[in-house]
Amino acid sequence: MSPEQRRTGLSKSRFTVGLQCMKQLWWRVHEPDAPELEPGPGLEAIFERGHLVGVAAQERFSDGVLIDLPHEDIRGRVEATARALADGARVVFEAAFTDGGVFVAADILERQDRGFALVEVKSTLDVKDCHIPDVAVQLHVLRQAGLEVPRAELMHLKRECRHPDLSNLFVREDVTHDVENLLPSIPSRIDGMHRMLGGPLPDVATGPHCSDPYECPFANRCWPPLSDHHVSTLYGVREKRVSELVEAGFETVSQLPDAVELSPVAARQVRSVRTGQLVAEPELAQALSSILSPVAFLDFETVAPAIPVWPGCRPYEAVPVQVSCHVQMADGRLVHHAFLAEGGDDPRPGVARAVLEACGGAATLVAYGAGFERRCLRHLADAVPAGRDDLLALSERVLDLHPIVRNHVYHPDFGGSFSLKSVLPALVPDLSYDDLAIAEGALASARLESLLLGEVAHSGEERRALRRDLLAYCERDTLGMVRLVERLRALA
Ligand code: SF4
Repeated sequence: MSPEQRRTGLSKSRFTVGLQCMKQLWWRVHEPDAPELEPGPGLEAIFERGHLVGVAAQERFSDGVLIDLPHEDIRGRVEATARALADGARVVFEAAFTDGGVFVAADILERQDRGFALVEVKSTLDVKDCHIPDVAVQLHVLRQAGLEVPRAELMHLKRECRHPDLSNLFVREDVTHDVENLLPSIPSRIDGMHRMLGGPLPDVATGPHCSDPYECPFANRCWPPLSDHHVSTLYGVREKRVSELVEAGFETVSQLPDAVELSPVAARQVRSVRTGQLVAEPELAQALSSILSPVAFLDFETVAPAIPVWPGCRPYEAVPVQVSCHVQMADGRLVHHAFLAEGGDDPRPGVARAVLEACGGAATLVAYGAGFERRCLRHLADAVPAGRDDLLALSERVLDLHPIVRNHVYHPDFGGSFSLKSVLPALVPDLSYDDLAIAEGALASARLESLLLGEVAHSGEERRALRRDLLAYCERDTLGMVRLVERLRALA
């Protein structure tokens, strides 16, 4: 492959991008340094997870030969694969092949009685439709390169697996039939992508494909910015309804005529946006009256490792590793409790102890989107038998602040969302997350997983800084709830 072919050549990931959108593929190939393609912490966490799952899959084969050469050394990888196969290797990892301007590295190639099985490793819990073309392009290249490959499999994580027995961590599913069905269309698809990449940026209309099967990183280039209070921000509105409203000539929620049928929440939103005023229903006082002192404002942070690491856990099971709790006494005094696990040991006994200490004397526990906190408490109850009854009792006493806000209050700055990150800046504007290094949950979760379970060793100072940032973030969430309840009481 010449340097130019290598630059514009296809790989299995480029091929699947091309199936989603030719324009996206063109940008990815011709603007590889585009700022949109810089992996953020979320994407880095996905890459790390994929790497760990890939290594764990390889460990299921005792006699595999890994083609371990630099990523860009395509010729070297292809030649090393040919040598390994000629030497009779039973299993080859990262087996590299190229044909017709397409380079693929098969996760696992397993010699069988007749030919080979191509095994694609995925860190998902199921086979998804979008996996099939990924395997099909590999099978096409392998066969074109002269290899006999009668079988294609997807090896993915099994949801029934429970630590510490990881013998059934993976399941191998035969996808040969689906892949064979797709195979005849692959050559013309490849030709189409090569031709497109040799020309100017193609014109592709936006549509559902921009987020299906994956979010396109170039969405901001293609989608025009929406006006404030666009009808798509209407609470609970479905995509189809948005299209109907736009087609009927309504762009913003304030333009909607009274005849349009709306839920009570959406109707309150329209009223608030039209007047530009905060709306608080008279029933708010009654809803808040069930919050009795002392009040424990509770927030957990979790990690959900693909490969379970603590007893009883399944793949991707959310495990509480951090908790923040502000306890407010009847006289308004505020006491803060926090716990953040250290190292890779089972964090749950420490989290459970901290929660019981913090919340034991509270008359009401308050959380925002409390289903999550209840699940965390039940998870802790299962994992820490000594605290089981007390933790289950706490889970029964958690009151959810989210529906209280959603069903009684709307501020035009909510933008149709009742998440804490939308509600707080509007109702408690002096309490923002702007000064925090970690300011949203997905990033906190990625950082927590890296801190507790990551392969990259953090220096002492990095660990201290990360812990500081994580503690500050979780503390802000519970302080935010304290301030939010104060504000709601003032409104009521
Ligand atoms: S935003 Fe949509 S149309 Fe634009 S490149 Fe991405 S997928 Fe293609």
